[in-house]
Amino acid sequence: MPMFRSAPRVLVAGALCLALATPATAAPPSPAEAKMIAAVEAERERHIGLLEELVKVNSGSMNLQGVEQVGRMMRAELEPLGFDVRWIQMQKTGRAGHIVATHKGNGRGKRMLLIGHLDTVFEPDSPFQAWTRRGDIAEGPGVGDDKGGMVIIVAALRAMQAAGTLKAADIIVVLTGDEEKPGSPIELARADLIAAGKASDVALDFEGLSRAGGQDIGSIARRSSNSWTLKTTAKSGHSSGVCMEGPGCGAVYEMTRILDAFRRELPEPNLTYNVGVLVGGAQASVAADETGGTASGKSNIIPAEAVALGDIRTLSNEQEARVRAKMQAIVDRHLPKTNATLTFSETGYPAMAPTAGNRALLAKLNAVNETLGLPQMPEGDPASRGAGDIAFVSFIDGLVGLGTAGEGSHAPGETVDLTSLEVQAKRAALLMTRLSQEPRGKR
Ligand SMILES: [Zn+2]
Repeated sequence: MPMFRSAPRVLVAGALCLALATPATAAPPSPAEAKMIAAVEAERERHIGLLEELVKVNSGSMNLQGVEQVGRMMRAELEPLGFDVRWIQMQKTGRAGHIVATHKGNGRGKRMLLIGHLDTVFEPDSPFQAWTRRGDIAEGPGVGDDKGGMVIIVAALRAMQAAGTLKAADIIVVLTGDEEKPGSPIELARADLIAAGKASDVALDFEGLSRAGGQDIGSIARRSSNSWTLKTTAKSGHSSGVCMEGPGCGAVYEMTRILDAFRRELPEPNLTYNVGVLVGGAQASVAADETGGTASGKSNIIPAEAVALGDIRTLSNEQEARVRAKMQAIVDRHLPKTNATLTFSETGYPAMAPTAGNRALLAKLNAVNETLGLPQMPEGDPASRGAGDIAFVSFIDGLVGLGTAGEGSHAPGETVDLTSLEVQAKRAALLMTRLSQEPRGKR
């Protein structure tokens, strides 16, 4: 009996949880959206097959023919969808080239720029070349970074075509061929991407999906990635006079003064700056490819030269400029009889700051998640994402990480979770369709 009396309470509690679990506001997918969801599911094995074919073609950044071949494979996927596909030769920057594919829609909705890359970090001499699949896990060079992302672009666009929503959408797809090892000058290497950004309203980056504790995370920012070279010089002499009035402290003490001041005086949120290589002595120099250096000297000679190579990662171009100025101010406080120069690389990647516009795009993605019955994606730690091509178009609203979820990118054994391919393709198809139906000026 008591049991019974309590029965109504359990039912009420049960009904309450259900009401809470399924937010009452979750509108079911529209008929077109239901078609896109079905299309992605129906083509699951086709997409995995495409991913396998792409992975089996080596496209290390310096394997120019391999990158171009992957470009041809993507052309074969995009042209049948009504894209005007161009191959942009990039020999003048020492790299293969880019795919720029344009789909003209009705010209009224949001103009979308989809970003991915053809190249990988695995050159032909890498031992990691093979594709293997174990159930929902696939392994191979660039399988996630970024061949999985490119397959999601194709899957989402094919679903939109199947549902009839691609026709109205204004979309540019840019697949760079040197994301992992940018050509130079960078202005030339990224000119086509920046031009596409200027012809668009929103940018969607199909690089890896962030996950934390098994939960998909939304990314609305990327840090910059730049490198710097610090050279110190000093009057040399016999060590018995070091740091005395006459000869001064030498190039190595000047170097350590500066680096230690960097360590103590620069720290702030979202900023990191590493010193990767350091050489000093009577003579000191770094290798042309900046992968090491040499020094010579003796313990009883005051060192005349020292060189350090480092990097800097910031969350906004404003932060970058400010920190660079602080670094220069530290450098200028020379020890007596010493000098130092600090230079920054011209081939670095800018930052993509976490703007309100990017946050609004994530909110739209979460509205799609609601329709798909998927959990909301919380905003990820902006400092957690490394540099990426989308930062070159951070003058428009952008969303990062619409690609596959996986492990171990940039290392042998890289894998992807193939179930993320389907989920992300559905998210992207619905999001792009909704954006294409939004008036251009509205945020
Ligand atoms: Zn990548």
